[in-house]
Parts: sequence; structure tokens; C-alpha cells
Amino acid sequence: MLLCYYSLIIERGNDEVSVELKLTSTEIRARFLDFFASKGHLKVPSSSLIPRNDPTVLLTTAGMQQMIPYFLGRETPPAQRLTSAQKCFRTTDIDKVGNERTLTFFEMLGNFSVGDYFKREAITYAWELLTQVFQLPADRLHPTVHPEDDEAPRYWSEIAGFPDEAIVRLEENWWGPPGASGPCGPDSEIYYDRGVEHGCGRADCKPGCECERFLEIWNLVFMQFYQDLDGTRTPLPKKNIDTGMGLERLAMVLQGKESVFDTDMFQAIIDRFASLAHTTYGSDPRHDVSLRVIADHGRALVFLAADGVLPSNEGRGYIFRRLLRRAVRHGKLLGLDKPFLSEAADTVINLMKGHYTELAQQRDHIVEILSLEEKKFNQTLNAGLSLLNSLLEELKRKGHTAIPGEDAFKLYDTHGFPLELTQEVAAEHGLSVDVSGFEEAMQRQQERSRASAAFVQGQDEQVLTDILRRVGPTEFTGYEGIAGSGKVVGLVVDGAEVESISAPQRASLILDSTPFYAESGGQIGDRGDITGPMGVFHVEDTRRPLKGLIVHYGHLHEGYMRVGEAIQADVIAQRREDTIRNHSATHLLHKALRSIVGQQVEQRGSLVEPERLRFDFTCSRPLTSSELVQVDEQINRWIRADFPVHTHIMPLQEALITGAMALFGEKYEDVVRVVSMGSSTELCGGTHCVATGQIGLYITVQEASIAAGIRRIEALTGRGAEAYLRRRSTLVDTIAAKLQTQPDVLETRVEQLVQDLAAARRLVGQYQRETAQQQAEVLAQRAKDVMGAKVIAASVDVPDDKVLREMGDMMRAKLSPAGVVVLASNFGERIGVQVNVDAALTKRGLHAGKIAALVGERLGGKGGGRPESAQGGGKNKAELGAALDLVTKFVQQNIR
Ligand code: ATP
Ligand code: MG
Repeated sequence: MLLCYYSLIIERGNDEVSVELKLTSTEIRARFLDFFASKGHLKVPSSSLIPRNDPTVLLTTAGMQQMIPYFLGRETPPAQRLTSAQKCFRTTDIDKVGNERTLTFFEMLGNFSVGDYFKREAITYAWELLTQVFQLPADRLHPTVHPEDDEAPRYWSEIAGFPDEAIVRLEENWWGPPGASGPCGPDSEIYYDRGVEHGCGRADCKPGCECERFLEIWNLVFMQFYQDLDGTRTPLPKKNIDTGMGLERLAMVLQGKESVFDTDMFQAIIDRFASLAHTTYGSDPRHDVSLRVIADHGRALVFLAADGVLPSNEGRGYIFRRLLRRAVRHGKLLGLDKPFLSEAADTVINLMKGHYTELAQQRDHIVEILSLEEKKFNQTLNAGLSLLNSLLEELKRKGHTAIPGEDAFKLYDTHGFPLELTQEVAAEHGLSVDVSGFEEAMQRQQERSRASAAFVQGQDEQVLTDILRRVGPTEFTGYEGIAGSGKVVGLVVDGAEVESISAPQRASLILDSTPFYAESGGQIGDRGDITGPMGVFHVEDTRRPLKGLIVHYGHLHEGYMRVGEAIQADVIAQRREDTIRNHSATHLLHKALRSIVGQQVEQRGSLVEPERLRFDFTCSRPLTSSELVQVDEQINRWIRADFPVHTHIMPLQEALITGAMALFGEKYEDVVRVVSMGSSTELCGGTHCVATGQIGLYITVQEASIAAGIRRIEALTGRGAEAYLRRRSTLVDTIAAKLQTQPDVLETRVEQLVQDLAAARRLVGQYQRETAQQQAEVLAQRAKDVMGAKVIAASVDVPDDKVLREMGDMMRAKLSPAGVVVLASNFGERIGVQVNVDAALTKRGLHAGKIAALVGERLGGKGGGRPESAQGGGKNKAELGAALDLVTKFVQQNIR
């Protein structure tokens, strides 16, 4: 029966079905949102491509991403019915880009019900929108459902009149967290039949088939169960609807186009790239694929950059990098040698800025990021490509069919050449890459670096592991105070456990409980004393080499100490206090940067020491001086507000939902510590002030770039800031005293001095030139006649090369038309030589450059230059007389 129904469509498939409405993508988006608004849905804006508070996903992949907290009942939605056009990015689809329907970045139109309407309404709305608003022919549309869902097919029959056998059952029509607990349920997809001419021709071709005939345009997800970890499903008390329809695919259908790239969402972009590459879209299938890839990736990169993703070697940054590299590579296939992505960014921005206003706002930033990264990769690529090409030639000559993994890894590791590119280039030469060999090489290298890291740490992991197993995790008491009593439970000397130590032995000491903070989260470890009945141990550093185990590194200062003894532990108070001021200030700095510079600021690292704090963050440009002032002012306002610092222990999910800042790429436990002060909330295990007022004072002392797109701020707080200001102020007093003036008028005084100095320099220069002139007069009279040439080779006394050159010119003019002038002057470290030869004499075989070389060499240095004027020099001052004597001889021998 099913087969009959489809053969019916196949026959009909040949008819031309013309779509009457030719809507632009802007109109399609608006009509979708307006339609759902008319059904009581609240329009919500697209969220960022960087998911808010969800470190488990790199980028937003669907419209429901921002609704998750509502679906889970953790946040109250602004309305129970919502609709949006969401920016989405799917890494999983990167390799498919180039076909007719797949994009990495696309817009997803969606309607959502949070515990409000369910299946029947969702299907009713979808059908009404597609057939009435968009006027798609009903016989081109085909729903699919999950085999276990009996309700959905019933509604499809009732609402849209589909006979049951026409509704395709697909096992994959199920949505839920794979292998995890959470809400889940069946879904129902709507496919558009593009016509039999697009099909594979198989009799059982139907929605869900791999071929290009049936295009999935919309997915309606019915979230109706909660799945436990063991797979048990219980019906949700409040069921949700989540739907997603690709705007580009809908536009392709509504505009009657052959691919998403032929729609108005891409035409201008494709045209721009095609014109940069001096080609036209549609003229060569291979070029078309490259143009599609570049158009998709280029558009995606613009949106990623606008949302603050910056190129890097991990996480989102790596996706950005990988996309850009693929695009550049395809650009090369099109013969694009110059940067083209940054060139075409404007086209994307202009096309999309109407709905996505962030694009125009971030225009400069986007173009800058793209052009920097493109330039950088072009350099890498050119170097890597030539290496790869010679490697390929060699392999082919030897009859090999694959690039050894080790070589591919070397290209990757030392030349930054991505594996995917090596594979693509190799494939063009009919070779493959030994990927498992590549992975092995990668693993070997990681082991090497891990081994060396362990070596640096100088600790025998096995011994510590044994101790941890025996005594259990160390209890940390340092949040409450900086002193406490405890017991020695382990001592390690030179990688072996010992029972006791005696002064001045170095050791690693483990306590059952300790107030010493172990280095982590950027905050350095505590120092202090551990005092036993018979000895005192100086703690120089505290670390946590194994999860749960705090180790004190240092030496026994006096007496002896043994395992089992009761001790008193005391952290150096001053050092800890200075450190916590810097740590709390780091949180305020993070918050201030995000509110003043923008949400693209993401923490990339930090160092919290007693003396200072350092904060690394993403930002593609230097901060302006006004921003820096604002940051300092904001932080100091918060300090004066004296916000209490609160800490809470809570489940990770809950923490993220309350808006705590989590570090990207950081692995968090299920239960986390949340530190909040004022409007700052961060996941953090560090030690902090009781209230922000304790920080006292904050001063940024430096802001600089440390890598492309990453900047670093160094700052001082409390005592450090005070000392810094005092130093500065004393410096001003001292300078004022030295200049015999008051600090208030120092600036005017310095300006005056600078002017005076410039005037004095001018005077000295004038004087020097005059003296040089006098020397020149005297010297000119001593010129020797050598076969018609007037030769001078003399040592003079001038301050620098410039005056020496001027003097040489002067003398040549005096001896014109047949002068040879060689002047040497002692410049302290070395002797400088200036040689000038009249044009008339160069015709007779003399060459200033050769003379300079001759003299320079004799002085233990070198020389050279043009025939008429040259310079040289050397450090061998004792040879000066002999060197000058060479000149006359040279003239005699070489003049014609
Ligand atoms: P496909 O199997 O075609 O990749 P999907 O099953 O991954 O689609 P969903 O996750 O259900 O799609 O997403 C909902 C809708 O978003 C799809 O029906 C489609 O219209 C659109 N969509 C999904 N992935 C892409 C993509 N890579 N490019 C363009 N549109 C997409
Ligand atoms: Mg997909």
C-alpha cells in the first residue's frame, strides 16, 4: 500500500509545480514570526552563538538552546508560548557543506510551548503556516513520525488529511539526550518533495531517503518523557513543544531554487567571491563546490566573530580556525591568492545587518579578526604547501600511496598545517594519509610532554597515590581561617616515603587537614610554618598534585618531625591577605571588562599572587585609555560599595542557571563553589575577602597584547597599589626637587627644558659643522697630488657618522674636479670611515666602495658602497695610520 502511494507521487513528480509567492528571506522570517505572534507567541530575539551558561556545548545548534532552562523548569519563561529566529552553527555538518542543503551557519525558525499546547496544536500551526501563509502545495509536503508515536499520525490524518499509510515511520524521529538523563520524546519531520527528477529513482525512495528528492524542512519535537540514566521513561507532567525549520531551506523551496546557495540569502555573497576569483557561479561544477564552501564558511565566520569567537587552538576558537583554513584552501583552488574573506565580509554584513544589528556594530572588529587570521594562515599555508608538495613528489617517485603518519604529524606540529588539509592535498595527488599513524605520533608527543611535566614537578606520583589511598583526601580548612591544628600523615623525601625527617632536610609533607591553599584557579599556593613538638617545617609552596591531596613543599627548619605527630599549621597572614585582595579584585575586573568593553571579553587565564594580579582575556584590540580609566573607576566604586562576598556550594547546573561565569574549557565537578560579590558571580575555589572594601584600592598598571586576540592586564591592589602610588608620588617630588621647582608646575618646567635642550642641540650642531669646515679647510691644503688626483686620507675629530659624511662631501667639493677624500674619525667603540671620489676619477678606475672595503678591512671591520661615496669602519684603532696609508698606494695602482 505504501509503495503504491509513493509510485503515485513519483508519477506526479514530473509536473511543474510553480510556487506563486516569491518571498524574500526577510519577508519569510517576518511572516513566520508574525504568524506565531498571531497565535499568542512572544517573539524573542536570537541568542548568541556562544551558549549562555552551558559549558557542555561549544556553539548554539538549535533554537531550543536558549529555552532549555525553561523546559527544565529552572527558570520562568517570559511567556509559555515563544517564537524566534535563531542563529545556529553545526560543526557536525562542516564536511557536508557543498551540497544543496547543508550549511554550517544557518537560521532556525522555531515555535516553542513551555508546558502549554502540545502535539495537536503544533501540527495544526505547522500545516496552516506552510499551506496557507506560505501557500505550499499540500501534495508536496510529507510528514514523518516515530514508529511508537500513535498520536502524531492520527493528528496528521485529522488535520491535513493524510492517509495513515502515507505517513512515513522513521526510527530516527526521536529526540533526547543520548546516553544521559533528561527530557526526550518523539518528533515529526516535514519533508518537501522537490520532484522525481531529483531522486535516486529507487521504488522505495521516500522521505528520509539519502537522495536529494525529499528535503527535510521542519522538525516538530514533542518533549513528553523524562528519561532516567537507566533508560526508564516517565511521562512529563508538563509537556513541551520545540520546533525548528531552516530558514535557508524554506527560502530555497519558496523561491523555487535548486539549492540554498541560489536563494537571496547567498546570491550576493556567492557573486562577490566569484568576482574576486574572476569566475562565475555555475560555469564549472568543481568551482561551484568551492564557491559554496567559501560562501558558507565566510558567512559563518562573520557571525562567529560578531559573537566574540576568536581564532585559537581549542574549543570554539579552533572551530573558527578550522573553518577559515578550509575556506582559504578552497580559495586557493579557485586561484584566490590574496586575502578574500576579509574583503567579502562587508557583503555578508550588508546583506544580513537588517535583522542582525550586531554585524554593523562589530564591522571593524570582524574585518580585523578575519584579515589577521587569514594573513597568518596564508603564510603557514605557503610554507606547508611547498613542504608537502616536495614530500608528495618524493613519495610518488618511490611508489608510495600514503603519507606516513609521522610526516603528517610533523606538518601539523611544526608547521601548523591541519591534518584535514594534508588529506585534501594528498587526495588531489591520489595519495592518502596514514591517519592512525598520525594519531599515534600525536599521542607519543603528548606522552613526552606529560612525562617532562611530571619530571619538572619532581614528584613521584606513585608514592603520593599510595598516600592518598591510605589517608584519604586532605581536608582544606583555609576558607575559614589561616591557622589550624592537624596531624602529619605522610612525608616524602626524594620520591620515597619516610617515617621522619630532620633539619635541614627538604621534603613533601602531607597533613590530614590544612589551612594552606594549594595552587589552583590562578591563585598561587600558600606559604608558612608547620610546627610540631620537636621541629618547624617551612612551607615554600603548596600544591595539589592529585585530586584531593594537598602537599606542602619545603624544608625542616629546625629539629625533627615524624609521621603521626600533632602539628600547628600557620599560613603567613600578610601574604595570604595580599593574595585574597588580588583574587577578589580579579573577579571585579572580569565583570568590569565585560560591562565596559563588551561580552566578547572571555577570561583566558589569570595569575593571583600577593604582589600583583594578572588577567588574560579575549579582545581583538587594545583597550582605549578611556576604557582603562572607566575600568579602574568602576572597580574602585565597587570596592567602596563594600559588597559582602558570598560563597555557596551548589550543583553545577544550578550554578550555571543563576548566571555564574564559568571558564570555557574548564572541567567542573558536579558540585561547585560559587563566589559572588556585587553583580559578579563566578565558579571559583579560591580564597577571597570578606567584603570588597577589604581590597582597599585597585590600579591597572599595564595592558598589552600577549597573543593574537588575547590581551593581558596587570594590576595592583591594597598595599601593592598604595606602595605603587607612593613610589610615583615620591618620584614626582624627587624630580621636581632636581629641577628646582614645585610638583604642580613640573609639567611646564619639563616642557621648557625640552625646548631649551632642542635649542642647545641646534647650537651644538652648528658649532660642530663649523669646526668640521675649519678642519676641512686645513686638510684641503694638505692634499697630495697622485697622478693628477688630489688625495686626502686623514683622521679627523667629529661627533658622529652624519657629520663625517657632511665633511666628506664638503671636502670633495673643495678638491673638485679630481678629489679622493678618505676621512676617519674615532667614535669611541669604533672608527668610522667616509670615502668620497669625484665622478671624473671614477671614470679613471677609482671606486669609493673598494677603498672603503680596503680601509675597513685593515681596521678589522668592513666597508663598501657606491663608486662615488662609501662608508666603512672597524675597531682596530692601532691600525688607523696604516689603514690610511693604503689609500695613496691604491690610487697609484688603480688610476688609469
Ligand atoms: P538534516 O538531517 O537535514 O541535517 P537535522 O535532522 O539535523 O537535519 P534538525 O536538527 O531537526 O535537523 O533541525 C531542524 C531544521 O533545521 C531542519 O529541518 C532543517 O530545516 C534545518 N537544518 C538543520 N541542519 C541544517 C544545516 N546543516 N543546514 C541548513 N539547515 C539545517
Ligand atoms: Mg543534521
